[in-house]
Amino acid sequence: AKKSGKNKSCFFSPEMNLQLRQALELEADIRAALTKAEFFLVYQPIIDLASGNIASVEALVRWRRSDGHIMAPDLFIATAEQTGLIVQLGEYIFKESCAQLRRLRDSGHEITMSINISPVQFQAEGIVERFTEFLHEFSVQAHWIQLEITEALLLDDYSENIELIQTLSDMGFKIAIDDFGTGYSSLSYLRKFPVDVVKIDKTFIEGIPVNIENVALVKAIIAMAKSLQLSVIAEGVEAEAHHDFLCDLQCNRAQGYLYSRPVDACDLNLSQYPVRAA
Ligand code: C2E
Ligand code: CA
Ligand code: CA
Ligand code: CA
Repeated sequence: AKKSGKNKSCFFSPEMNLQLRQALELEADIRAALTKAEFFLVYQPIIDLASGNIASVEALVRWRRSDGHIMAPDLFIATAEQTGLIVQLGEYIFKESCAQLRRLRDSGHEITMSINISPVQFQAEGIVERFTEFLHEFSVQAHWIQLEITEALLLDDYSENIELIQTLSDMGFKIAIDDFGTGYSSLSYLRKFPVDVVKIDKTFIEGIPVNIENVALVKAIIAMAKSLQLSVIAEGVEAEAHHDFLCDLQCNRAQGYLYSRPVDACDLNLSQYPVRAA
């Protein structure tokens, strides 16, 4: 949502006015929510397909509105990005994830954590310094954390971003390309970046094994990723048929409602699975 309309006729149109008001209202609400600590994280297990163990969890943000209603990220991340508020929100998410990772490690689980990073966060000054502070604060090691970034970041401003990703990779963070296949980059293009993992978007897992286009795509992505020595995580695994298909292709990891929905930290049940180094 733009803060000002260039086009006068648009500026005065009632729909535009409504959209603008709603966007401004949402921005103000996000700002207030940050001070009222209304954002919290839920965690979704990521399964190692070879062993069946929980290898990792992905932190996913939620917003508990003052009326108790829980708001999904698709409804506020874009506005947070457009207004730059994602920088502050992203720092909170990173810090909270580190705190939770420390608690999980303290209870004896050799688990790792996936954290979504918005491309806008990369444009902010001092992201490396802030991340370093949080790692120290919670005695968390960088290689326990997988940073999930989108392809857009790689295409955006090549030289600066590659430097930043390289720095984060050198620090030990694992770098995952989220929503792989929905953007424009090819797998061979990824070789230029210090990428460790590709995540296949859930839209490609849908309809497997009936949808032959998706079957072909997922097969191709897994085969190519393997040839580039990248690890593959499939997202949106909802059915046994998806699971079996991915196991046959020796996909490394999977995540989806079949195993678990994203849950509150207190409902994460890792002890039902053998503890194992990731
Ligand atoms: P994503 O990173 O691709 O996350 C996966 C989404 O798929 C999550 O939605 C998750 O709840 C959902 N999901 C997991 N398993 C299944 C399944 O089996 N079936 C279906 N239909 N969905 C499944 P969620 O939590 O609503 O997040 C939506 C998007 O919002 C995320 O997509 C990510 O792009 C963004 N997001 C979420 N949390 C954060 C965050 O902490 N920071 C940033 N920057 N973005 C976030
Ligand atoms: Ca993700
Ligand atoms: Ca995403
Ligand atoms: Ca996705």
